[in-house]
Amino acid sequence: MMRRTLLSQIGLSQIGLSQIGLSQIGLSQIGLAQVGFALVGSAVAPGWPASAQGKGNLASVPIEVVGDWDGSLPGSALAVVTRMRAVSLAGVRLLSDRQPGRLRVDGHRSGPPSIWLHDDGTSIAWVIVDIGPRDWSKLAYQFGHELGHVLANSWGPDAKPRNPCQWLEEALVESFSIRGLGLLATSWEQDPPFPGDTAFGGAIRTYRDRVLAGYRAFAADVGADRGIAAWFRAHRSEMETEGGVSGPGRAAIPTLVAELEAGADRVEDLGALNRWPGRSGVPMEQYLPSWQGSCAEIGAKGRLAERVKALLLG
Ligand SMILES: [Zn+2]
Repeated sequence: MMRRTLLSQIGLSQIGLSQIGLSQIGLSQIGLAQVGFALVGSAVAPGWPASAQGKGNLASVPIEVVGDWDGSLPGSALAVVTRMRAVSLAGVRLLSDRQPGRLRVDGHRSGPPSIWLHDDGTSIAWVIVDIGPRDWSKLAYQFGHELGHVLANSWGPDAKPRNPCQWLEEALVESFSIRGLGLLATSWEQDPPFPGDTAFGGAIRTYRDRVLAGYRAFAADVGADRGIAAWFRAHRSEMETEGGVSGPGRAAIPTLVAELEAGADRVEDLGALNRWPGRSGVPMEQYLPSWQGSCAEIGAKGRLAERVKALLLG
């Protein structure tokens, strides 16, 4: 059996990272048993060889579903996350040199959605979700956020969240998930993954609208709906210490959703994130040029990075 060492996790809420880390020790023990004995659904046959790691890309590598799904059929959960991945990455060039060899989606009954950063030498991107029975909108939302982190090269053992720019990655991947929910709703209406389930597409759209409306209301409250550069200057120190998606950085999300929805070529820039020393632990004036340089290195157009730089720093 592979030895797994917990390093950290990237959760939807970065508030109280040390507390999350402590509670995750218990989850890691559960995870060991789950991996060994409870592989409950997979897009490929068990025994997928390690030698295949590194082939394919994030849109095509196998997805496996493990863990406790609280009454949901694991095969159905697999269908939902597979569809969410497909629509979120459709038309997106996947250019990163740090893509995983496999995605693992691990159902938990408690704790925040997160990525389990592990240093067992495998190329598995390990996503933890926590949903109620057949809560497919929430599953797609949580998975979409974590898939965004994976796309942003934040799935390996070096990807522990770091301020001062963690808030921007959180806002970007949250926006990526909201964009994905809109695409999923349309896809579901046209070709539902479950027979006769076209009407659920509307439920997904309503869920997305509600999430986005919450961020729009917050952005309006803090004045970020009139441009995020002034809001960034005013709240910068707060954002640089509260890096989670529940912190003040969430005011940027409506703007970033619109930027991502401007074209699939905007999304490709997420694959260039975190490919420099220091990752998000560098000042914004260094982070944004590093992102632009990384886009050039992997052949991404850099349009999103350019827009974010203009929006934040003017
Ligand atoms: Zn996150």
